[in-house]
Order: sequence, then C-alpha cells, then structure tokens
Amino acid sequence: MRSKFLPVSLAALAAASPSVFADGAFYGDPPDAIHPWTIHDMNRAQPARVEPGSFSTQEQPGKPPSDAIILFDGSPASVEKWAADKNPLEPTKWIVKDGTLQCVPGAGYTKTREEFGDCQLHLEWSAPAKPEGSSQGRGNSGVFLMGQVEVQVLDNFNNPTYADGFAGSVYGINPPMANPLVAPGQWQIYDIIFRRPVFKDGKEIESGYLTVFLNGVLVQDHTALEGGGGHMGRSKSHPFPEKGPLKLQDHGNPVRYRNIWYRPLPKRASEGGDTSTMSPEATAAKRKQIATSIRDAAAKQQGKEQLLHFMESLTYEADPATITKVTDLATAWHASFKDLAPDKLADKKGDVLQVNKAVQYLVRFKMLPDSFVLNAPLKKLITDLGWDK
Ligand code: MG
Repeated sequence: MRSKFLPVSLAALAAASPSVFADGAFYGDPPDAIHPWTIHDMNRAQPARVEPGSFSTQEQPGKPPSDAIILFDGSPASVEKWAADKNPLEPTKWIVKDGTLQCVPGAGYTKTREEFGDCQLHLEWSAPAKPEGSSQGRGNSGVFLMGQVEVQVLDNFNNPTYADGFAGSVYGINPPMANPLVAPGQWQIYDIIFRRPVFKDGKEIESGYLTVFLNGVLVQDHTALEGGGGHMGRSKSHPFPEKGPLKLQDHGNPVRYRNIWYRPLPKRASEGGDTSTMSPEATAAKRKQIATSIRDAAAKQQGKEQLLHFMESLTYEADPATITKVTDLATAWHASFKDLAPDKLADKKGDVLQVNKAVQYLVRFKMLPDSFVLNAPLKKLITDLGWDK
C-alpha cells in the first residue's frame, strides 16, 4: 500500500518537473552574517558519492570506502609507501608477513612517504598473543598523527598502567573513556578523526582535536590537543605544518598492523572551509559568489524564469543593480497579463502563485521593500480570484 505521506525530496520534485523553478528557493530561513546558505538550500553542493566499505572480522580485514587512500593492505605496492623514520631513503626494516606489517624491535619507527594533515584514519593492530612484560612494556607501539601526536597502542587487556598511557589514550594528554580491548593476538580496530591546530599570525585560533573509536567504542570525544603530547613532558601549543607523515612506533615489541587507510578531511571554517558556520568575511564572499552564479544563469534566461532567478540572487546579496533589474522585469512580466479579463487568467494561476511566493519571501525578509511593484497587485489578484483558497 502506498503511504499517504510518501516522502518526496525537493531534488526528486525538481527532477520530475524540469519546468518548475528551482525548488528550495524562497523556502527556508535566508542566509545571515555567518551562514551563507538558506535553510534547505538547493544551491549548496551535493555531497560526494562514496561507496562504503565493509567491516573487518578477526579473520578478514574489511574493505575500505571507495575514496580511501590505501597506506597498507599487504600488497608489495603498499609496502613501498613506508620508509625508515630516520632515513626516508631507506625502505622500512619492519617486515611484511601474512599481509601484516610487523614491528621489528630495534628497527626504529616506520613512517609513510606520503604526508597528510586532517584525516579520518583507519588501522588495525595486534599485540603479541603471548603477553610479555608489564605496564608500558607489553605490546607497546603507537600511531603518530603527522609524526607528532600519539594515539597509544598497548596491550592493556589485563595490564594496568598509568591512565594517560592506555591503549586509546592521547598519550600524555587524555586517557581513553573506556578499555574495550580484545585479547592480545586478536585484531584491535582504530577509527581516528584527527584535526591539527589552526594558527593565524602565530596565534592558535582553533585547537587540534582527536576523536578515536577503539573496536567501535568511543574512547576520545573531540579531545583538544595540547601541543603534541609526549612522554614525561607537558607539551605546549605550537603551530603544525600543513602535512606530516604517519608514523608507527617501535617500542621494542613486535606489534602487527593491517588495513591502514585514510581519507583527507575538508578544511574547517577557521581555515576558510565551507562548513555550517563561517566567518563574516568568508560568509559575505560566499554569498556574493552564489548570487553572481545565479545572476549569470539568469542572464541567459527569459520571462518568469529570469525574473525568479534574479529575485533568488537577492536572497544572497542585496545588490542595488539587481533590485532595479528585478523591478523592471517584474513590471514587464506583470504588464503581459495585468489588463486581461479575469476569465482569461486561469492559465496564469501557477505562475502568479509562484512569483507571489517569491515576492512575499523577499518582502518578509526585507530583501525587497513593501512597496515592491508586484507586492500589492499580486496579493489583490490572488484574493480577487479566490486563488488563496
Ligand atoms: Mg607507544
């Protein structure tokens, strides 16, 4: 049975009715000083399509999403992506065995030849099945984002240590909120969201952050970075470069890794990114850009479509020349039917209601004055002909 309340998206409506003016215009609350888009804005870019991957099991690593950049999947090509930390010209001395990348104690850290900044990082690690050592000496390694901030890798399955050095800690900064490890020898899964600190003119304007899921359990919730974090020393806030390598720590234990991939993240508002809120300057620039693009499209159109698009551009930018243009176009459009007898107007109903919706929106939000040339006449026409019923 079809539901009476079948949800129909605006995009689907637009696709189904190509003659209908861009749905979504003159609908939600307009842009303001820090929001360049209207609510439900169809001028906002559609999200990029990503084919999702699959989840890992102990037996089998999952498949990365379609846009992931593979750093290690066991293949010879992915091994080439790793170098010795101290001498990047040297290949890593870590060994590849059964599709895993394994730390060789004494070989030193390994790092990616590729450098990257803010990211969603996925990796899986496994501490030796036979526990040896205790506290920080058992199954210790580490994931160093940009080579600086360590998300601790440690076998804490049954191994107390200081809380800010647990598996899932931002080492030396914040303990994990829980200990969801499985037994050593099994695969532990990290999903990490990393944001580096943003500096402007030598001043930190936004902290760096780490969010970490360990085996699907949230252990770091947007934890603010205090500098890089580290052993013994309390680190201080400092500028990060744009990019850095991912490093895996040699802490003397043969910890294994598999299924390492990342997805670069878009810039935040503080770096000029297109996000939900933006700086007043960036918002004004974005609004101008959207308005210009709508006006450029409108210039190639005619009649009611052209009028509506120029009107829509006023949602984003109060451009005096456009207000004049809209007034002229509105006057000409109105002149095409205003002297017709009421019985000749039936086929104009849809257009009139559509333009009136735009006029009422722009007047309501003070983007056009009450005295706008179509405001009173359209309202009167609609009431006179009972089109408001
Ligand atoms: Mg470590």
